[in-house]
Amino acid sequence: MTPQERAELKALNDKGVNEHVLRQNRNTPERLQSALRRIGTDAFGTCVRCSSQIPLGRLRRVPEALVCVSCGEKPRGG
Ligand SMILES: [Zn+2]
Repeated sequence: MTPQERAELKALNDKGVNEHVLRQNRNTPERLQSALRRIGTDAFGTCVRCSSQIPLGRLRRVPEALVCVSCGEKPRGG
């Protein structure tokens, strides 16, 4: 991860961002709320299945992503 990406992840991880997103999404899906609760914790940006770092590009597009790209492509229950 480059220093710039690290800074961006830190910004994403900011509680202010969390609240900003919540304000923008009054009907926030439960899935996204769950992800937002992870923001500010070490769990944010970490795959819940394999504990590897989720690429920042994926977090930008899918902030509520809980798993990395490779785990996301695998069928559930596997
Ligand atoms: Zn994974």
